[in-house]
Amino acid sequence: MQHFLRQFLFLTVLVALFAGLSLAPTVQAQDPDARYVLAIHGGAGTMARSDLTPELEQAYRAALREALEAGYKVLNEDGNSLDAVVAALRIMEESPLFNAGKGAVFTSEGTVELDASIMDGRTRNAGAVSGVKEIRSPITLARLVMEESPHVMLTGSGAETFAREHNVETVPNEFFHTDRRRRQLERAQQQEREAAPSGTGALLLDEDREAEHHAFGTVGAVALDKAGNLAAGTSTGGMTNKRFGRVGDSPIIGAGTYADNETCAISATGHGEYFIRGVVAYDVAAMMRYAGLSLTAAANAVVMGRLTELGGTGGIIALDREGHVAMPFNTPGMYRGAIDEDGNVVVKIYRE
Ligand code: ASP
Repeated sequence: MQHFLRQFLFLTVLVALFAGLSLAPTVQAQDPDARYVLAIHGGAGTMARSDLTPELEQAYRAALREALEAGYKVLNEDGNSLDAVVAALRIMEESPLFNAGKGAVFTSEGTVELDASIMDGRTRNAGAVSGVKEIRSPITLARLVMEESPHVMLTGSGAETFAREHNVETVPNEFFHTDRRRRQLERAQQQEREAAPSGTGALLLDEDREAEHHAFGTVGAVALDKAGNLAAGTSTGGMTNKRFGRVGDSPIIGAGTYADNETCAISATGHGEYFIRGVVAYDVAAMMRYAGLSLTAAANAVVMGRLTELGGTGGIIALDREGHVAMPFNTPGMYRGAIDEDGNVVVKIYRE
């Protein structure tokens, strides 16, 4: 029986791998021998070249570069991978371009509710917050939950009480609001009314996203420090027009974020419900651990194979202890970038 199961797993992996390898765009190193120390994403979605003005595209590229350089500085000065992840993500949380912190998407009620998680690959300790409304940097609070509480995830007002007790910076919810996201909410609600007059639709669904090339925008980072330790983190506003306290994959360890020195560090972005059901981040680590796949093979098999079969859209960034990086996605684009140990930067948006 065990033999049969092993064979079944092996065949499943092979099929997924085949599908993945033939489709998956990954960040190609300028130098294939480069050892990457940090990779980031700023969300995956249906952005097309024609949708982005040259100025906006430039702004995205500059913000990605700035985040990579902030994280790299930490690593270069012998800082640890957790500090590098937080440094990179804080830049992106502060940028209105991304769906995290300032510029996050609106809930159906016109408020912003933020989720974040972080994981330490050395200890497999983790911290997460969900549904916070007044925390300026949710990734910072997730880190604090990991280090200063006996828990892994705190939600809503409890997380905010914990934050105040630890003097974490709070801001009024309006701090996160932007006109661009307000217009997205209005369009999503208009589409929802047209599609489901009874008001049963809950989220901005995939078909609707075709017109919403900026509906994604979650931010994530994976880092490898000089001591050889991996870390991963993800921060998001979730999905436009979300309701009922909806929580996506980003604060769920194993779905949106995972790190284990023995395998890899992963941060995901995309339609969170599918990433939760597919346990996507952990699935990559599991394929490496139990089936012996390389990082690239496992990342491609999960995103282009299993996630795609499930109907999920999005992508991941993945980094292993040797500094290999993989960034497969099944959407037209994903804001992404990586920096190697010599400080060489790669930043990409489309399939290129
Ligand atoms: N994964 C996030 C969520 O479902 C959204 C995204 O990555 O765009 O909350």
